[in-house]
Amino acid sequence: MNHVSRRKFLQNIGLGSSLLSVSGLTLPSNNFINSNNDQKLNVALCGLGRYANAVAYGLESSNYCRLSGLVSGTPTKAAEWAKNYRVPSQNVYNYQNFDKIISNKDIDLVYVLLPNAMHKEYVIRAAKAKKHVIVEKPMALNAKDCEEMIKVCEDEGVQLAVGYRLHYEPTHLEIKRLGQEKVFGQVRYIEASLGYKTDAPGDPNEWRMKKALSGGGPLMNLGVYCIQSARYVLGEEPISVTAQFGPNTNKAYFAEVEASISWQLYFPGGAVCSSVSSYNFAIDRFYAGADKGFFELSPALSYGPFKGRTSTGELNFPVINQQTQQMDEIARILLTNQPLPTHIAGQEGLKDMRIVDAIYKAAKTGKKILIR
Ligand code: NAD
Repeated sequence: MNHVSRRKFLQNIGLGSSLLSVSGLTLPSNNFINSNNDQKLNVALCGLGRYANAVAYGLESSNYCRLSGLVSGTPTKAAEWAKNYRVPSQNVYNYQNFDKIISNKDIDLVYVLLPNAMHKEYVIRAAKAKKHVIVEKPMALNAKDCEEMIKVCEDEGVQLAVGYRLHYEPTHLEIKRLGQEKVFGQVRYIEASLGYKTDAPGDPNEWRMKKALSGGGPLMNLGVYCIQSARYVLGEEPISVTAQFGPNTNKAYFAEVEASISWQLYFPGGAVCSSVSSYNFAIDRFYAGADKGFFELSPALSYGPFKGRTSTGELNFPVINQQTQQMDEIARILLTNQPLPTHIAGQEGLKDMRIVDAIYKAAKTGKKILIR
């Protein structure tokens, strides 16, 4: 992007005046955005599974991103995707030659959509290839791995985001506002739960059921959304947790990961959040009880569309494509070489994983665990 077109672009996306007034065109020297005559962020998807399909679909209506690269271990699938999304063959990688992406000026960012245990390796390899990275939730298998991923990204001068698709979703922005601005007074109690039934018929060989690949069961997969919603509605970090594993109703299927898990997060302002995440039954709801009323959603944490109400009326917000919105908001920041806000950056994934680690410890020990 040349000087004039970048100026025009910054103005178009509403970041122009503040940046330009400070020092003309203020772009730090470690700007790794290579591309671009048309001001879009070039995104490579790493792992072409179910969620990659949702992201690819979202990218089709993105204003600030384009699907430019693919990383897959299955040549036939990669070829099919390349054809469908018109990705040139020189932008298609496998897990062996992935590191060569460092010399590809047509890729700005790698979006890691692999099984949880592979997130750390591919975030680190992408960062070392000088690409910005988005990693899916859960960010890694544990908080220690998250710390390592953040450090490598910092050392390499690239930015790391977590794919929290609800951070830019209008209904969730509203419940965050209702809670943090205390519209119904101090929130005292939250219930945030997400589950679905997977073991009928279910595939016990699916990576989610293998602890080495998933790191755990529904807490890793779904519980992160419950933790997130409580944290952003309260605007506080929990200080301690108690937790209980649910019954294992299908020992052959739930051989390695929990079937369900309940937990209670205790917040410094006195609020408690009670949650369950399960592969054993369907649940998808959020409730916040406050001093002067309540607000609630159901569906709440899935792909929606969300339905909600408060003690004074309905919550009606437009239904958006969550992936398009997430990608555009992240791209707007990266294209102007601004730091990502902390709520979407690697630090946010680390905070969640500290809580996840504490929940598992509480469930295993039966004790109340302090969260550092
Ligand atoms: P998936 O099983 O559909 O896809 C995983 C991909 O990884 C496949 O393309 C598979 O070929 C590839 N892969 C490479 N090595 C593998 C291995 N050893 N075992 C299994 N697969 C391997 O999974 P998914 O549902 O797309 O989930 C991928 C990631 O996205 C996970 O981290 C998951 O938590 C996350 N996710 C996020 C959301 C969300 O709403 N943000 C939704 C679904 C999944």
